[in-house]
Amino acid sequence: MDIRTIGVIGAGTMGNGIAHVFAKGGYNVALVDVEQRFLDRGLDIIRKNMEREVSKAKLTTEQCDQALARITATTDRKQLANCDFIIEAASERFEIKSELFRDLDGMCRPEVILSSNTSSISITKLAAVTQRPAKVIGMHFFNPVPVMKLVEVIRGLATSNETYATVKSLAEKLEKTPVEVNDAPGFVSNRVLMPLLNEAMYAVMEGVATAQAVDEVFKLGMAHPMGPLTLADFIGLDVCLDIMRVMQSGLGDPKYRPCPLLIKMVDAGWLGRKSGRGFYQY
Ligand code: NAD
Repeated sequence: MDIRTIGVIGAGTMGNGIAHVFAKGGYNVALVDVEQRFLDRGLDIIRKNMEREVSKAKLTTEQCDQALARITATTDRKQLANCDFIIEAASERFEIKSELFRDLDGMCRPEVILSSNTSSISITKLAAVTQRPAKVIGMHFFNPVPVMKLVEVIRGLATSNETYATVKSLAEKLEKTPVEVNDAPGFVSNRVLMPLLNEAMYAVMEGVATAQAVDEVFKLGMAHPMGPLTLADFIGLDVCLDIMRVMQSGLGDPKYRPCPLLIKMVDAGWLGRKSGRGFYQY
């Protein structure tokens, strides 16, 4: 099937980035969110980010205008019925995603692939609410989407080879690098990253070192561009906690126990950069 129009669900941090890269890649994009103000904010961010690319001579003004014109933003989910490929980037709640997948399954043509940008929810479980489990897959982009090269492509238990091949080639057309992984809590990226961040939090909690010192060790000693606590603040401490809990319950190993300091900070509303306070003040 010729994929020309992409349905992107959610105009938040990831959804607007995903709409950006598909529109820039020459695809028509139907961007859906639940309220017009979320769409307006998403479109505004896309425009600013594309203008930044123009100022860095990575895009011409004409290409920028054409890409923006390819995006249609709507609160009417039914507009997705004509799309050739769907990527869901709505909030990280199973109830929200499963309702969307059930509805999309009834609405989209049977050959259309339904993908999710989820960081931790089981692709196999999302696939199971549809009548097309072979056509459900994870397409996990990284933040900021226009900059980060990786797409973790997650195969659910029933995902077909054909679906995988289509998503791999789509990622390559966006000039991203797809990496194949199987469905498991946290996939690969968060399975390996989150315990590192969690352990860094234990080191701070136990007074082994300050957050600054832990971050310096990783920046200068391991050539990480950002230390683990700066990164946790950037991702959002609530998001880190949610992912640790998914791994703790999904894998059942006590090594995934969220750091008590992380739980306490989330309880206090210290969510990192987005709330103005986390391991650092913003
Ligand atoms: P966000 O909160 O910035 O955006 C989510 C958007 O989804 C919001 O605008 C919300 O209004 C919208 N939404 C909620 N329910 C909806 C529905 N039923 N229909 C349409 N829109 C709906 O969240 P985000 O950070 O963009 O995360 C989106 C997804 O991407 C999540 O699954 C998350 O786990 C995943 N993810 C996030 C990151 C990250 O760094 N933020 C990285 C990789 C993957």
